[in-house]
Amino acid sequence: MDRPSDQGYRLRGHIVSPRSVEDIRSAAMGAQTVLGLSEMPPSMPDFLESLTKFGITVDVLDDDRTLTMAGVEAMCVPETATIILTENTYAAARRDDPRTRFTIFHELGHFVLQHTKVLPRKSYDAKPYLDSEWQADQFAAEITMSLETIRKYGLNTPTAIARFFRVSFPAANKRHAQLRRKNLI
Ligand SMILES: [Zn+2]
Repeated sequence: MDRPSDQGYRLRGHIVSPRSVEDIRSAAMGAQTVLGLSEMPPSMPDFLESLTKFGITVDVLDDDRTLTMAGVEAMCVPETATIILTENTYAAARRDDPRTRFTIFHELGHFVLQHTKVLPRKSYDAKPYLDSEWQADQFAAEITMSLETIRKYGLNTPTAIARFFRVSFPAANKRHAQLRRKNLI
């Protein structure tokens, strides 16, 4: 589903500069170091608070605007280094909700991967590696479930990955499948 060679891929986000899985993995590992993250999953309230040290603003939408953005959990404005969370998403992050952990790192991925340059849609076939959403999901997978840590602790099942990194089972399952397919675990 997320192989760059897939045909008939349906674009979910904007077309951005192409990036390979390996390229995104290295960006995620760089970000992990810069953000001072360890191999253990961070407490999300502490992590959100720490982002201000790096010039990243976390804005929480009030009720009215949350309603107008029905269905949207979070957004990123790379130009102003702002991550916008709905009240529900923010509340879930404060509870260290596993799914919200991925969502927040997905938004951070848009920022780290500099998804500001949108290329003209017509000139390109839709391919996963050109899609800002695919890239941000891959970034979130790499930074929340690092390959190095998966190997170090022999996390060989989706359940082991979900438990260790405190992510949702579907996210862990997808990560496990991708790494298996590429013979990395
Ligand atoms: Zn996104």
